[in-house]
Amino acid sequence: MIIRPEGFKLSIRELIDPHTFKSRPEALCWELFTQDAIDMLHGVRTFLAAPIVINDWHSGGQYEWSGYRSPGCTIGAPGSEHRKGNAFDLKVKGIESNHVKDMLKQNEDDPLLAKLMRIEDGTVGWTHVDCKTLAPGQSRIRIFKP
Ligand SMILES: [Zn+2]
Repeated sequence: MIIRPEGFKLSIRELIDPHTFKSRPEALCWELFTQDAIDMLHGVRTFLAAPIVINDWHSGGQYEWSGYRSPGCTIGAPGSEHRKGNAFDLKVKGIESNHVKDMLKQNEDDPLLAKLMRIEDGTVGWTHVDCKTLAPGQSRIRIFKP
């Protein structure tokens, strides 16, 4: 069972697409994520201390695939961590995406970021963060090319 950390700021609608949201009770929607991903997101949100948009379809916005990607989703890579409920694309209010990446990387030893394994390099307008298990010899926070 997924446990939301105390003070977790995001609603389930911000983490999944509308079709998945309507297809099952909220309690089961949370189970689409890994505990590490939820803990990681909470830590990153707390560390940045700024509002974060993931999905905003529920308020008329354009994003619905920035969190969990269901089997019916055709965007992104087939093996994407998003499909495992293990990744988020963050739009951080007031902080440009490259700066978000640098802030997180430069503070990788902060306990709030302990679950953050990888950040995608080169994105503009959002920051991909995930909890993928690193291969032997790799170290966190790993900056990876898509
Ligand atoms: Zn992503």
